[in-house]
This record gives sequence, structure tokens and C-alpha cells, in this order.
Amino acid sequence: MFNAVLLTQSDGKTHAAVVALNDDALPPDGDVLVAIDYSTINYKDGLAITGKAPVVRSWPMVAGIDGAGTVLASKHAAWRPGERVVLNGYGVGETHWGCLAQKARLRGDWLVKLPERFSSRDAMIIGTAGYTAMLSVMALERSGVVPHHGDVLVTGASGGVGSVAVALLSSLGYRVVASTGKLHEAEYLQVLGAAEVIDRRLLSEPGKPLQKERWAAVVDSVGSHTLVNAIAQLRYGGVATACGLAQGMDFPANMAPFILRGVTLHGIDSVMAPRELREEAWQRLAHDLEPQKLGGMSHDVGLADAIVVAQRIVRGEIHGRVVVDVNR
Ligand code: NDP
Repeated sequence: MFNAVLLTQSDGKTHAAVVALNDDALPPDGDVLVAIDYSTINYKDGLAITGKAPVVRSWPMVAGIDGAGTVLASKHAAWRPGERVVLNGYGVGETHWGCLAQKARLRGDWLVKLPERFSSRDAMIIGTAGYTAMLSVMALERSGVVPHHGDVLVTGASGGVGSVAVALLSSLGYRVVASTGKLHEAEYLQVLGAAEVIDRRLLSEPGKPLQKERWAAVVDSVGSHTLVNAIAQLRYGGVATACGLAQGMDFPANMAPFILRGVTLHGIDSVMAPRELREEAWQRLAHDLEPQKLGGMSHDVGLADAIVVAQRIVRGEIHGRVVVDVNR
């Protein structure tokens, strides 16, 4: 038997509960059985568990898009019992039973070897949010952005993607400006490495198509008017990455910054990112993320608390990263 956050649907509503399941209830589609040590609550887990958006596409579903743990049994050539692995995305927790559970049966092709430096708990402090922040930073680098180009704006800065982006960029030598709705968390963001903290209301309303040039680059996880204003404030040749929709899925943009300032908008997808990119991102995280910053951005909860945390994350009440000890 193992405990899991099970999602069911009735009358169009999602119900979440921690239940004990039999091992043979695990779906057969998967060639590696993993003992999960830790999972986490990302914004997407919040949407899935509360049913606020149609993240789950097969019922019943074990929630949890991220997990870290140890291989128990494997029919996949790449994995042996005892190896430490991390899983992010690939539709896990959406179409395939997820990792807010003590056990998960996963496809070996989806797993990444956990870098030596990280414990399972460290991996889940990072989670999909942190790995997406790393993908965003790598995209900026590939577009030629370097620290002496100027300030980098991080939106949704106190959130999961935002917190890791602030930590990574400052460690890499960039001057980071953090945009947040939680100005009382300014000190938290400064400890992570923000040189300046601004009120997100400066970006969240409709603005002019071209605004004063401020940013060499932008890491956005908010979308909507915030992303549009950030692009309108990019310097000539600047680059923005877009991964999220915390403000909205809409993108009410204007062509002017693209054709008059030659700016670039780079979309980031973590869910189906190819294996080489994932491995590179995890190696870079192991190299670039300072241990004390990792510790400062997280707090721990047990499996039963995951449901309440899910409700809080969609209300925007969580800062940093929440780690779920599935054995607690
Ligand atoms: P969090 O909830 O941890 O962070 C989101 C942050 O956005 C909040 O903390 C808040 O930060 C800010 N925010 C919330 N509501 C609003 C609003 N109405 N207007 C402006 N800002 C707002 O989520 P994650 O960091 O886990 O994810 C962020 C987004 O990125 C989500 O939309 C998620 O789905 C997406 N995502 C996409 C991925 C991909 O592969 N493309 C992967 C990972 C995440 P503050 O209070 O500091 O302003």
C-alpha cells in the first residue's frame, strides 16, 4: 500500500483526498517503479488539485507534476534499483499518475539522474518552477544576453519561477530588478539577490506600445499586460522569456517593440522539453544555484497539507517554493 493525493471528478467538480492505494492500482504504462521521497506544489499542481483549470485529462488521477526519489525496480535499460532520479512534467499528474504519492510508476525515458550535489528534497525545492527558471536563463544566454548589457527584470518574483530566476541571475552576475505584488517580501527578494524591488502594479495595467527603455532582458512568468509592458520597456535588441500566465493567458501586445527595437520574445516550455536540454538545465542548476539561497526559499509540508497549499498557491498567497514530504 502507498499514500497518494487522489483527484476524482463528479458533477464537473474536482475532489482531492489523501488515500491509501494498493501497489497494483498503479497504471501499467511505465517501466520504472520509483519510491518518491519528496514532491512539491507548483502553480500547475494548484490548478490541477483545485480544478481551476483543465490540467487533469484522465480520471481518477494521482496529482503531482514533480517528484524525486529512488528507483525500486526497473525494466528500462538506463535505470537500476537504488539510483536517484528526478521527474519534471511529461504530462505526469495530468494524463499519467503523478508524484504526490509514496510510489510512482514512470517511464524511464522521462527520468533525469539527480546531480550528486542535490538531495531529493533539494530537487523538489527547485522543482518544475526552478528548472523552468533555469531554462529561461539558458534561453537568454543563447540569445547573447550578458551581465554588462544592463538590468534584468524578473516578474512574479516572489513565486517559484521568479524566486529561482532571481537567485540564478544574481549569482551569474546580472543586476536583477524584482517585480512583486508582495512588497513586504522585499527583504526575501534582496537576500535572494535582487538589487531593486518594484511594485508589480507599475506593469499590470494597459500601457503604451513603446515605453522608456529599461531592461536588457526580462524573465516573465506572469503574461498578460505585465509581459506586454515589460516588452515595451526592453532596450534596443533586448530579450524576454515567457513561461507563465499568473496574471492571464492573454497577450494584448503591439508590434512596435519588435519592428522598431528588434526585441526578441522567447517562449519557454518545460513539460516536453527534450532530454538533452533537461539534463543540461539540471547540471547548470547544480553548478549555478548557491546552496544558501536554495535553503532560504522553501518550506516543508506533509502530504495531507498539499491540498490546502494548492488552494493557497492559486490565490497567490505562497512565496518561494513548498516542498512536500510524501512520507509525512
Ligand atoms: P507561483 O504561484 O509560485 O508564482 C506566481 C507568481 O506570480 C506569484 O507568486 C505572484 O508573484 C505573481 N502573480 C500572481 N498573480 C498575479 C497577478 N494577477 N498579476 C501579476 N502577478 C501575479 O507559480 P510558479 O512560479 O510555479 O509558476 C508561475 C507561472 O509559470 C504559472 O502560470 C505556471 O503555470 C507557469 N509555468 C510554466 C511552465 C512552462 O513550462 N511553461 C513551467 C513552470 C511554470 P508576486 O506576488 O511576487 O507578484
